[in-house]
Amino acid sequence: MGTYAENAPVIVERAEGHYLIDVGGQRYLDAISSVWVNTFGHTVPELDQAIRDQLGRVAHSTMLGNGNRVVVELAEALTGVVPIDNPRFLFASDGAAAVEQAAKIAFQYWTNQNVHGRSTFLTIGGAYHGDTIGSLSLGADGFGTDLFDPLRFGVLRAPGYDDPSWAETAAAIVAERHEELAAAIIEPLVQGAAGIRVAEPEAASELAAACAKHGVLLICDEVATGFGRTGTMFASEQCGLRPDLLCLGKGITGGYLPMSATVAAGHVHEAFLGDDLGTETLYHGHSYGGNALAAAVALRHLELIEETHVLANARGRGDELAGLLRDRLTGVAGVVDIRSAGLLAGVELAAALPQLTARRVCAAAVARGVLLRPIGAVITVVPPLSITSPELETIVDVLEQSLEATLTAETTT
Ligand SMILES: *Cc1c(COP(=O)(O)O)cnc(C)c1O
Repeated sequence: MGTYAENAPVIVERAEGHYLIDVGGQRYLDAISSVWVNTFGHTVPELDQAIRDQLGRVAHSTMLGNGNRVVVELAEALTGVVPIDNPRFLFASDGAAAVEQAAKIAFQYWTNQNVHGRSTFLTIGGAYHGDTIGSLSLGADGFGTDLFDPLRFGVLRAPGYDDPSWAETAAAIVAERHEELAAAIIEPLVQGAAGIRVAEPEAASELAAACAKHGVLLICDEVATGFGRTGTMFASEQCGLRPDLLCLGKGITGGYLPMSATVAAGHVHEAFLGDDLGTETLYHGHSYGGNALAAAVALRHLELIEETHVLANARGRGDELAGLLRDRLTGVAGVVDIRSAGLLAGVELAAALPQLTARRVCAAAVARGVLLRPIGAVITVVPPLSITSPELETIVDVLEQSLEATLTAETTT
């Protein structure tokens, strides 16, 4: 917070499509999709209308022991698309809460069946699962997590996606330690917050097979990758995965309202069937879990994904973005790696550069009208799924200019 004002934050007043407009009237192409949540841009007429229509019915009613029509309809619609057998939904408002719910469900799944000792988790190096204490525990070290080490619970950790043998090692840990493991949790295909680390799509199947063989639940955290971000509805599809638990968030409402969901396979749900207030009960819920306005926009968003063929656009523009970044930035001094999957891309700068270089490059891009943001030394380029080819050209042009301007300044000072 000490440098908040110095960093000249963009204060948004309104938006038009893929552009955010600040209080001074400056326009910025939203090339980070408001940190990966936005799919069709802003002020989408169909999504705006869905919220208005729902507002005329009811904004929110509790899902605790009751239901709400639009939330039920959303669950039915999601049932048709999630890569999970006989899915059941527990809604919350944030991705971190979806992960916490999955962890609690996985843990209790075993105790409900009188299996004891399966109380830990296998997680992956570089993982990010959210900022609550439970999700921080599952996530890897870095970005200030060490401060909370006394509060984080212990886990077993396999290497990250930067190690080509990560899945083999993870599978070996499952084989050896399965009696201690409630579940393994992965971000299928891409570890986003790790700096857009991309795995081989087939790699995770080795871990999934080990989990299936040894009865360890598999949790896929698709908070970042879900809803088309990597070119398919879910990244699990590209990896050939059908997890026992799935975490959804970010793009679920097209970037409109906070909503997340933990999806449990039917066999997991069954372990929780029991008497009212009996020991099988999952005592977990959030006040706004299953909010009707959020459900209405999420439902309309799912229809829009179908109607507009936006996934084909995400694949086509994703390939184009990868090509543009490669052609224009390979060999640019200071750029050491370029990684992407669909419309989730990262440009990594040399570790030897001053610590805040990536932030300066992004500030230079913002000054040129393209909203970018780094994670550490990685500049993330995460445009809306509906982005156009000319807009991608603009983003990469501006990134190239910003890199050159900033890196020239860095090396001459
Ligand atoms: C963003 C993210 C989360 C956390 O979601 P919040 O809504 O920010 O709490 C969890 N997992 C992954 C993979 C994410 O990218």
